Parts: sequence; structure tokens; C-alpha cells
Amino acid sequence: MASSEWLFPRTTKAALAELEIPDTTAVAGGTTVLDLLKLGFSSSSRLVDLSRLDMREIAVVGRNLHIGAMVTNSTVARSDLVLQSHPALSEAILMGASEQIRNAASVGGNLMQACRCSYFRATDWPCNRRQPGSGCPAISNPMAGHAVLGTSPHCIATHPSDMAVAMLALDAMVTWKGQDNEGVISVSDFYRLPGKEPHLLSHLPEGALITGVELPRTRAARNSGYLKLRGRTSYEFASASVAAALELACGEVCSVAIAFGGVATVPWRDHEAEATLLGRPLSTEATNEFLDRIMVNADLRSETIHKIGLARGALHHLLERLARS
Ligand SMILES: Cc1cc2nc3c(=O)[nH]c(=O)nc-3n(C[C@H](O)[C@H](O)[C@H](O)COP(=O)(O)OP(=O)(O)OC[C@H]3O[C@@H](n4cnc5c(N)ncnc54)[C@H](O)[C@@H]3O)c2cc1C
Ligand code: SF4
Repeated sequence: MASSEWLFPRTTKAALAELEIPDTTAVAGGTTVLDLLKLGFSSSSRLVDLSRLDMREIAVVGRNLHIGAMVTNSTVARSDLVLQSHPALSEAILMGASEQIRNAASVGGNLMQACRCSYFRATDWPCNRRQPGSGCPAISNPMAGHAVLGTSPHCIATHPSDMAVAMLALDAMVTWKGQDNEGVISVSDFYRLPGKEPHLLSHLPEGALITGVELPRTRAARNSGYLKLRGRTSYEFASASVAAALELACGEVCSVAIAFGGVATVPWRDHEAEATLLGRPLSTEATNEFLDRIMVNADLRSETIHKIGLARGALHHLLERLARS
């Protein structure tokens, strides 16, 4: 890793001013970004440590649960407030990485983590995400972990974050600040499909910082969960995962939100498909119809076709659990 200058701003304003200077990277927990620097991805000569910033609060604000961008993944997962109002978020975090990594990783860093495609990290291979326009070896040599939804001829890498999938099902909003402006983006609009520019991960404005997330406190969110299928139970990304928030009235679905991970290039949710479940009992048939609709345009290859069965199994399992609770 090339030597870099570390900067330790004490305010968001000061951090944003540092990030204006070219060749500067924000470091939160460092569990992704320092790995990539060691692999020689970038030679960022200035690293802005965000650890002194005041973004560490979890609190009920109006109708939402607010979580600061620098709250660690472990703190979120163990928070009584989160467990009471958004259990899917806690479950998703606890099924990711390892305790040691979760103790360091932050909410903002988790949302902005880089993809885990093997070609992306093997710097002797071309990769459109790492080096725009260099090509995508995964298109002709896909692996079992690649995506079936949201793919493009330029990238088929799955989105890695478990937390973001839960946040999508929980209708989370990301708040951000730039030097002269600030804004809010729903998680459903936060990530970019790879299209022709897979190196662009999100719609967060250049040089801006995520300051936190806001999660609406709804009855469905209180009855939410996350299920992840993976090759081993620790240090492993999702082969397929599902987050859901469900409210039933007299045995019929009156509110439902379902997001998938491990199968798509971005955390995946389809509001129109969800609408087909409303006002019906949660039968096997209704759930299968919902999944068939989600997968109707899936980009299937012999290496990845198993993901449909995994997503179906995870979905049935999770919805049955939520319907009983
Ligand atoms: C061995 C291993 C296994 C893992 N397994 C899983 C898993 O199963 N599931 C899963 O979801 N994740 C997994 N991860 C990824 C892990 O969750 C992320 O590395 C972590 O969440 C990133 O958070 P961080 O605070 O360390 O981010 P950093 O590494 O500090 O930063 C990551 C990126 O976010 C940017 N950034 C950080 N904070 C902000 C902010 N506030 N605003 C704007 N940009 C910001 C940084 O500039 C950088 O580009 C794994 C990681 C490792 C190393
Ligand atoms: S799938 Fe995406 S990340 Fe993987 S090699 Fe292709 S462009 Fe790179």
C-alpha cells in the first residue's frame, strides 16, 4: 500500500472540505476501503478518517428511527430500539461478515461497500467496475455468485450488502451532506444499475457524505425479518437472501415489502409484484406467483440458474415465519 497522509477532521464541514481536494478518500471503519488500497486499487494520497464525526446516534425522531452514519454495524444490530421496531435490520447485519468486522464497520461504509466479484479484486484481470471500459470477463466466464437480475452487458456483479437489502424492505431513506447542500435519497433510488457505467455505485453526489438513515416506524416494519442462504455461516456473502416486512389482517396481506439480496446487481425490490399479494391470504401459490413475476426477465446462465430456487426457498421460509408471528 502506497503511503498516505491521514487527516482527522472533527466536524462534518471540515471533513467535506478535505474531500473537495482531489485524490482524497473517506475512511469510516476501513474494512473495505483499506483492503482495496492494499490491493493497489487506488493510490489515494489523502485519507480522511471519519471516526471523530458526530454521527453516532440511534434515536426515535418523529415517526422515524434515526441511525447515524458512523454507528457501528454491531451497535445497530444490538440496539433495543432497532430490535423493537426494525428486527430485519438487526438480523441482516448479524448474518454478514464476522463479529470483529461488524465492530468496526459503519452504516455509511456498509452502504458504500464495493462489490465482491472475484475478477474485480484480481487486479491482473480487466474489470469495467475497477477500470471503466476495460471489459468484463464475467460475461463469458460467469461464476455461481454472479447476478441474474439488473445485469448489463458491462457488469453482472451482485450487490454485496446484507444491511442495504433490509433497509430497502424497510423503506429507509439515506440523508447526506455536501459542501453547500444536503439531501435525502430513498434506498430504493440510492443505487445505480450497472448499465454502461458499472463503476458508478450510487446516486450520492460526488464529495458528499452520508450522515445517516431514517427508517419509518410502521407495524409491518415491527414484523420484519431477514433470511440469508450462503455457502458457510460466517465470512460469507449471500448466495440469495430476502428481507420482508409483513402485516396481515384477518389472514389477508394488508402491507408487504420484500427485497432480495445476492441475486441482483443492486438490492432488488418490485413494488408492482408486491401489489399482487395485497388482499390475499399468504398462500404457497400467491408466493410462487410473486417470485415468478420477479424472475420473469432474469438473465439466467447455467452457473447462476440455481439462484431462483434459493430465492424461492428463502422467500417461503421467511414469509411463513412472519405470518406466524
Ligand atoms: C472478510 C469480510 C467479509 C464480509 N462479509 C460481509 C457480508 O457477509 N455481508 C455484508 O453485507 N458485508 C460483508 N463485508 C463487508 C463489510 O460489511 C464492509 O466492509 C463494511 O460494512 C464497510 O464499512 P466500513 O465502515 O468499514 O467502510 P469503509 O471501508 O471505511 O468505507 C467503505 C466505502 O464507503 C465510503 N464511506 C464510508 N463512510 C461513508 C460516509 N459516511 N459517506 C460516504 N461514503 C462513505 C468509503 O469512502 C469507502 O468508499 C465483509 C467484509 C469483509 C472484509
Ligand atoms: S461482473 Fe462487474 S465487477 Fe465483475 S468483472 Fe465484470 S465488470 Fe468487473
